[in-house]
Amino acid sequence: MIPKETIEEIRARCGIVEVIGSYLPQLRRRGSTYKCNCPFHQEKTPSFTVNDARQIFHCFGCGAGGDVFRFVMDYEKVDFVTAVTILAGRAGVEVVYEGGEAERGGSKDVLYKLHAEAAAFYHRMLLEGPEAAEARRYLEERELPPDVVKAFQIGYAPNEWDGLLKRAARKGYDAGQLEAAGLVVPSDRGGASGHYDRFRNRIMFPICDPMGRVIGFSGRIMNAAEKSAKYVNSPETLLFKKSQVLYAFDKARKAIVDTRQAVVVEGQIDAIRCHQAGLANVVASQGTALTDNHAKLLKRHADEVVLVLDADAAGIKAALAASEIFVAAELSVRVAALPEKEDPDSLVLRQGPEAIRRLVDEAPSALDFLIDAFQRQEDTATEAGRMRVVQAVLNLIAQCPSAARREPMLHRAADRLNLSPLALSQDLRRAQARSRPAPPPEAKPPSTAPKNAPREEAALLELLVHYYPEVHPLVHDFLPPDYLSDPVCRQLVETLMLDPPETLNEHFHDMSEEVQRVASRVQVGESRAIDAENSAPELAQRYILHFWKRHLEAEQAALARRADMTNEERFRETSRIRHDLHALAKGWGHALPMLETRLHRDVDF
Ligand code: ATP
Ligand code: MN
Repeated sequence: MIPKETIEEIRARCGIVEVIGSYLPQLRRRGSTYKCNCPFHQEKTPSFTVNDARQIFHCFGCGAGGDVFRFVMDYEKVDFVTAVTILAGRAGVEVVYEGGEAERGGSKDVLYKLHAEAAAFYHRMLLEGPEAAEARRYLEERELPPDVVKAFQIGYAPNEWDGLLKRAARKGYDAGQLEAAGLVVPSDRGGASGHYDRFRNRIMFPICDPMGRVIGFSGRIMNAAEKSAKYVNSPETLLFKKSQVLYAFDKARKAIVDTRQAVVVEGQIDAIRCHQAGLANVVASQGTALTDNHAKLLKRHADEVVLVLDADAAGIKAALAASEIFVAAELSVRVAALPEKEDPDSLVLRQGPEAIRRLVDEAPSALDFLIDAFQRQEDTATEAGRMRVVQAVLNLIAQCPSAARREPMLHRAADRLNLSPLALSQDLRRAQARSRPAPPPEAKPPSTAPKNAPREEAALLELLVHYYPEVHPLVHDFLPPDYLSDPVCRQLVETLMLDPPETLNEHFHDMSEEVQRVASRVQVGESRAIDAENSAPELAQRYILHFWKRHLEAEQAALARRADMTNEERFRETSRIRHDLHALAKGWGHALPMLETRLHRDVDF
């Protein structure tokens, strides 16, 4: 649809370093490339690299990569045509579409413009319209002063059926475009007009995407006595997907990145009030259930989420559902329950900014919140009641993909529930086995296996990465890394003996591309080795024994070729190996004394 020459001209005029640098001001030259922390995953040391000579970017941490168009697509979450349009605007290249208006993917463009103009119209109405006197009084009563109204571009939709329709028509937009934007509704009365304004006589809150472009609206009535819905929101459109948007995210983004923390409240006015009170990292869910798209958005910018919710039953239910989703996205989650009959807005107005700040600072972890909530609700004097608490706890912990994050949760839960961590972790394994999708019918070798790596070596590596706290001590104490035959696996296991998987990316500069690739794939993949029968340590033990067996058999074969031994020495050594192989075959318990002897003998030499 866009001619190839146009695309190449845009590419030539948009230097990738300059474009990415304008999105990521922290991009710095390092030798022949440019680096900074990756915007597509969370990291502490830069593995996001921009190569000026090749005009590409690549993240060694998450594998993201491509050209300048790909970057804009991924960063702005737009399709290719929109990315081209954005960069064309930047480069001053005019895009001429082939094949006509109707086809152009850029109809998104029209919707962006339409929303920007509608927001400006509603805002101007509020500030200047004679018919907006009541709206201005309402905002004054709610203590939303002019600077806040301006910062959030709050507006007023006049009390007319065609207020917006008429003005948009004058600017050349037709009813079809307004309908696609969700701003007007087709009339079912079959009248002459055909469409009417969706938002009438309401306070208008523009909803922006992460880049600050208006993509939808939420409109609130001013008079509680009115019979219609308290809020009317934009419907789902090409731009507005409510399961992906968080209100005020665009304004909170910088503070979220700076603090690595996001605070989620329910209402738009609550979010606005928090910003006004100096809490700039606050976004609003706008009354909808939080989804894993919301979680992914926050995860790209924050390590921790604090959910602020009503202390009533509905609030607790919502908090628990959201906790599971955020924990599954590897975010730390804390839950702040509001005092009865308060929301963040009223809390700040009554008790001052300190009150909300304290509530957020002192919020317990999702796990503690859950245990508190269930212990209040269940009779823990009965076994059934206790088990319901345990089950709820396990359901939450089972969501967490990282063993290193799960372990402290397990210990904390065991502590609070008066159980041993061992008992709880055994039940956790059962809970996980139930909640995981069934494994493929025939056991496939792990997808992460390097080309020639034996399947067992790749599997051990996976176990080590995903079940580090349990598996690391075993590998560290009982497996000399040189017993691994694949150099890639060996190098990664050696690195993991020194540092946990979370810091693996920091070693990337010392690694070959092959090792980097395997390392990223192992980290992003799920370990499929675990099931109800085999715990991670049990599997690790089995692999360790397997590598020992392979090592001893190789030694046995080498003996025959050794000329520096007498026959008697050779015989003694052969029987010792045969004896040890026998012990290995009988399992971990039997093999342990022999492993220790051999390991210590090796050390003594
Ligand atoms: P206010 O303080 O103005 O009464 P609020 O933000 O406290 O508003 P709540 O009734 O607590 O409003 O609702 C919280 C949020 O849920 C709202 O901000 C809005 O985003 C959403 N919401 C509430 N009622 C509706 C509704 N009828 N339709 C759609 N969304 C709604
Ligand atoms: Mn409120």
